Amino acid sequence: MNCIFCNVAAGNTPADIVYQDDEVVAFRDIHPQAPTHILVIPRRHIATVNELDAADTQLAGRLILTAKRIAADLGFAENGYRLVMNTNRDGGQTVFHIHLHLLAGRHCHWPPG
Ligand code: AMP
Ligand code: ZN
Repeated sequence: MNCIFCNVAAGNTPADIVYQDDEVVAFRDIHPQAPTHILVIPRRHIATVNELDAADTQLAGRLILTAKRIAADLGFAENGYRLVMNTNRDGGQTVFHIHLHLLAGRHCHWPPG
């Protein structure tokens, strides 16, 4: 399968990796939408949130806790940040390997575009 984020996780595509462990990898987005824009992905290929099931509960939580820890390590806990997961066409998903966006370093508007 030719998946760009599987290739990042495998080390076959260069990325600015800020954290990785046996289950997740976090790296900087190539087209940042905020001063800090990091993507947190599972190593295992999961195309969209629609493919998550109950067996993935721990993994889904790990994505959020990883983003939380990175945000805290970079000093954003108090000012805040935004976590986003886009799904399919209306959600604006362009890479079909789930990824949690961590956006920080500016005020995020609501509602989002
Ligand atoms: P989404 O639109 O939610 O699917 O987000 C996909 C994100 O992946 C976009 O913000 C892209 O800028 C980012 N992206 C695509 N390819 C790469 C890559 N090779 N390394 C880092 N970020 C990427
Ligand atoms: Zn993949």
